[in-house]
Formats: sequence, structure tokens, C-alpha cells
Amino acid sequence: MKPFYHLAFSCVLFSFCFLLSCTTTEMADKIIFNAQVFCVEEGEIFAEAIAIKDGKILQVGSEEHIMVKRNNNTEMIDADGNFVMPGLIEGHGHLLMMGESLAQLNLNDAESWEEIVNLVAAATAEADPGQWIVGNSWHQDKWLDTPADGIDGYPTHHSLSSVSPDHPVLLYHASYHALFANAKAMELADINKNTPNPDGGLIRRDAEGEAIGVFEETAMGLIRSAYTKERESWPVADWMAQKKAWIQRAEQEAFSYGITSFHDLGLPWEDLKLLRSMAASGELDISVFAMVREPIRELERSIAYLPIINEGETGFTVRTVKAFVDGALGSYGALLLEPYSDQPETYGQLVTSIEVLEEMANLCIENGLQFSVHAIGDSANRIALDIYEAAFDHAEKLKNARWRIEHAQHLHPDDIPRFGELGILASMQGIHCVSDAPFVPTRLGEKRSRDGAYVWRSLIESGARINNGTDVPVESIDPFESLYASVARKKPQAEKSFYPEQKMTRLEALQSYTINNAFAAFEEKTKGSIKSGKRADIIILDRNLLICPDEDLPNTQVLKTLVGGKVVFSGS
Ligand SMILES: [Zn+2]
Repeated sequence: MKPFYHLAFSCVLFSFCFLLSCTTTEMADKIIFNAQVFCVEEGEIFAEAIAIKDGKILQVGSEEHIMVKRNNNTEMIDADGNFVMPGLIEGHGHLLMMGESLAQLNLNDAESWEEIVNLVAAATAEADPGQWIVGNSWHQDKWLDTPADGIDGYPTHHSLSSVSPDHPVLLYHASYHALFANAKAMELADINKNTPNPDGGLIRRDAEGEAIGVFEETAMGLIRSAYTKERESWPVADWMAQKKAWIQRAEQEAFSYGITSFHDLGLPWEDLKLLRSMAASGELDISVFAMVREPIRELERSIAYLPIINEGETGFTVRTVKAFVDGALGSYGALLLEPYSDQPETYGQLVTSIEVLEEMANLCIENGLQFSVHAIGDSANRIALDIYEAAFDHAEKLKNARWRIEHAQHLHPDDIPRFGELGILASMQGIHCVSDAPFVPTRLGEKRSRDGAYVWRSLIESGARINNGTDVPVESIDPFESLYASVARKKPQAEKSFYPEQKMTRLEALQSYTINNAFAAFEEKTKGSIKSGKRADIIILDRNLLICPDEDLPNTQVLKTLVGGKVVFSGS
């Protein structure tokens, strides 16, 4: 028996799910049975089984009704009484960078600088002569002690340079707003005592003015350009093969977390072409909703190829232009209406001029494209809302265009209702809220944090649609951590929630990761819920995400991931 149904749901509700499906005599090529099927669109109503045919959902309902779709050729998948739901949609990530970061040294768990030096030493021993050693996700706050010869809380490069004298080393900070380089990398980047700090960047130095190895914000570009220069010398075919391998690695990782669709938040046309060719040749199973991100003059050229919508039914789509209004809050880049509470001279940075943003908005309208801008501070969000509102001659046209604001992290209270009123989508990341929580009140002060930071509850109540995601590789792609952050507004180990009055309900959080992300990509007719006719993007999980305790959410294990009816991941 399935005690779950007796516990929580009535047969009346459940047969509603069944009635939504069509009554057809077509036979299924796959059936998922013995399941608690959460369909999403009907709310907390459950079905028992799903029939699949030709990659699409044929019917959903009770086992009794689905089993008549079975014949000798039907493959049966026993869900073992587990929770089944539509595949999760990553609403904001970077697929190529994610794959690249997975191929690098992961320093996330390092508890000391010494441990990092040892990991680099081991990687150096395995590397080809002169090969770059690249790592990511170190964070000095995770170290149990501060390095003895440290400066400003950071170690100096000497220990790293001595274990890797001939291999350049580049280690990204967990925030991706700083990196650590060894002597060889600094030599290749021509860094010396006289190298000035670039605009918007900082080279950390010792008492003698020598670089210690830490490069912040735009100063990271000095080391990165030495790194990419080396890669540019590769034959084109090798470089393409490398990128493909990264994409496929990212895809596998996504499937292991139950992600079946991925919104890629901006690539140059060259990388979009690569993804497009992979999708066309069957080398990409995950469906990618990608945005084009290029300087305006180049954009004018690439736009001629757009939109590309679900080409060859592969799920590959490009119909969105991505741009930036401001930077990040942690590094004082977010553009604020009033100065930073902990730096009263600073308002943050406008990174694209208003004229260019307006030009891009017009290009989008002329070409029938969606526009999506990164805006974190309240001033940046107001600029985006104003530009969006002014670009259309009719409010209904703006609503239909489904333009997005990425992050929408800090809003002036007057602007909160504008999202719902104008039909502008707030593409937020649950996990960012809890990662940023320790420094948000320092940057914004108590009042601005309470009234406007990550206010998804206020947005939902004023009629806005919230999307969810992780901004991988800035955060791990793990959707269960981000779902937990969305409903608990804290890290699992933290004691206090960050303004708990702004929590999402469990159902809202799950909708933000499924049907809302589908809507933000104009894909709600084919994805985001379990419904007859939709793509069979389905996941089987080891716990019921609607009723398990909050604390259990981050431990969710994916048992199976199906994309277009094909099993692409099986867990243990
Ligand atoms: Zn991003």
C-alpha cells in the first residue's frame, strides 16, 4: 500500500489530475508507475503513473488508467513509491564556465592554505610542462587558521610558487571576484612592482609594493588574459573539442541534480554556434535556452540569425539579449540610490551606459527578442524598469515580451509592485540570498536590507513571477540547496534566517524552479509540469519535496533523470 495517499490527499483531488489527460488508445513506449507524481500546475495534487510516447507525456493519472497503455513493447519504470516531478529548470547559469570549473581543482573544501598548496603540488606533478594549473572556490573564511606570513588576511604567493615554479597557477576565489596567482603566472602577465591597479581593480601588495598574488575585480583580467592568450594559440579544432568536453561534463553534472533544462545567461555568438551544432548532432541532451551577450556593434550582426526557437525539437533556443546594468553587492559594484552604509562615498557602478541599454532594448523590439539585464542594486533595478517601461508604446506589449531582470536582489520599496504591474520577470537565485546574508546588512544597513533585499515574498504578493536558479558556477548547481534557501532563507548550518518574513512556500519554491522558469523561456506549453503533450522531462527523487522537513531538502538524492523520455541519469 501507499500510506502517502491515505495520509495527505483524497482520491477526488487525485482524479482531477487524471481528468486533465486525454483519453486516447495510443500505447506507451514507457510507463513510470508506483509513483507519487507531483504534476506542479494543479498544486499539491498527486497522480500514480505516467505514460510516455515518442519523448512526450502521453497521459498521467491512476495506475489503473495508465496500465491500459501498456503492451509487450512498453518499458516499465518502477518508481518504488518515490516522488516524481517534472525536471528542474536552472533559470540562470553558465554552462560552459560550469564545465570548465568542474575540470579545475575544486578548493571548496580546503580548510587551510597549506592544503591548497598541497593540492596544487599534486596537480603540478601530473601536468604537462608549462601547463596552467587552474582551480576555483577557495575561501579564506573556511580556513581554520590564517597563514603566518599573511597580508590583509591573505597568504602570499611564495609557498605556492615554490611548489609550482614552472607551471603558472590561477586559483579563483569562491566569489569569482578575486583570484590567486603564483610567480610564474604573474611573470607571464608581466606583473611587477610598477604595474598600476586597473580601474575598478586591486592588486594586493606587501610593504615593499610587491604583488602578493591576490588580484581583485578588474585586476583579475591581467592574469586571465595571460591564461587565455596561451589557449588562443591552440589549433581551433583542439579548442572546440575542449569546449565540447566541458559542456558535456556540465550536462552530466546537471542531470545528476535533476536539471533537465538550462538557461544559459549569455554567450558570444561563436559559443552559441557550438551549442547549436551539438544540439543538432545529438551531442546535447539537455535543452538549452541560451542568451546572446556581446558588445552592441557585434550584437547588431549576430541578431540577424535570431530568433532560434526549439530548433529541430532539440530544445535549443536563442531569443534573448543579455546585458549588464551594474556589478555585485559584495564588491561595491551594485548601483544604489543612496550610498553604501559601510562606504558612504560609494554608490556602485553603472557598467553599461543608459544609451546603449536603450539601443539594445530597441534592437530587441525590432527583432522580436526578449531582453534580460543583470541588475542588483536598487538604482540599477529602477534603471532597468524605467528602460523596459519606456521602450514599449503599450503596456500589453511589454507584458507579452516577458522581459527579465536577473538577480533583482535589492529593490526600492516603490519599485517592488512594478514587476507585477508591468509583467517583468524577477529572475532571482535563492542560494545567493543565503550566501550574501552575512554582508548584506553591512553594505545596505538594516532598513534597506529588510525592506528591499531578496524580497521574493513581497514580489509574489504584488503579482510578480519569480524564477529561480543558482548562477552556477558562482554557486553549485545543486537545486535542492537553492530550494532550501528559498523556503528557509538560511544555510543549513546557520541559526538565523535572513528576514524570514520573505520566505517562499514549498509550492512557490517548486513552481519557481519549474513552470515559472519555463514561462520565462516561453516554454510553459512544453515544459515545467507533468501534463499530457509536454516533453517527458521527468525526475524521480528519494523524498517528497512538498512534505519533507525543511532540513531534509538539501540532502535530496536524484534516483533517475529522464529527458525527452530518455533516461540520462540513474543514481544509486
Ligand atoms: Zn550569471
